Amino acid sequence: MTDTLLNPLHSKLLSSMDGVIHGVTSRVQGMGRADGNVGDTTPRDPEDAWQMRIAWCQAIGVDPERIVRTGQVHENEVFVVLAEHAGMGRRRDTPTPATADATITQAVNVPLMTLAADCLPLLMYDPVQRGIAAVHAGWRGTVMDIAGESVRAMQREFGTDPADIIAYLGPSIGGCCNEVGPEVTAAWREIAIDLGERKEEAVTRPRVKEHFDVPRANALMLEWAGVRPENIEISGICTKCNGEHWFSHRGQGAATGRHAGVIMLTDIVS
Ligand SMILES: [Zn+2]
Repeated sequence: MTDTLLNPLHSKLLSSMDGVIHGVTSRVQGMGRADGNVGDTTPRDPEDAWQMRIAWCQAIGVDPERIVRTGQVHENEVFVVLAEHAGMGRRRDTPTPATADATITQAVNVPLMTLAADCLPLLMYDPVQRGIAAVHAGWRGTVMDIAGESVRAMQREFGTDPADIIAYLGPSIGGCCNEVGPEVTAAWREIAIDLGERKEEAVTRPRVKEHFDVPRANALMLEWAGVRPENIEISGICTKCNGEHWFSHRGQGAATGRHAGVIMLTDIVS
């Protein structure tokens, strides 16, 4: 493994905080059998994906044997990860603890991993109550407000004040490329009705059909759930526009790989 190739993407905000480690893996031409892919479902090679997870986890600074990953199904369930779940779903032949597109935990040294290839990896940290979240938000999860559901789960389970949450919205297909059918923007306008005209910030029409800006939509729902706008960082990277560095379902087809958002609580040494 050529470690110099590995350069996980980091959030400026999360990088400035104590008590948390995070990173987003990317597409690296020539790495492993599928450009550094960490997705292990068919038609991807599960053993290669596991080797890539090991390499990426070393670059991020977490133990791959302790990764927790849930089944992602484009819905809005939030699963509370406990210390005893460490390692579940880390590789293809270890069972996942649940089917849920969002995971939250207060357990230290348990890395949460979420996979994407155009969908949005959303990572969150509450430095006060000490809790984290890793969320997979495609358009379906977005219009089911998985972002807000995750914030509310942190409130309920951890006593989190949403005003304390730091949120990082990683690379995803952008409003530039995410042309959608009318059912998508209709569903968005319905879930976001309380936002009034602000909901239109997540819809553009650069050509004939409307485009849905998934990161903007999730940022709006985070704000609606009480997260401060200055605590929300959007990567601004479109996976389709930047397909040489990111896996893109739209850009490269359904068989393409997956990159991962990873976040882990660490002990604070005072
Ligand atoms: Zn784009």
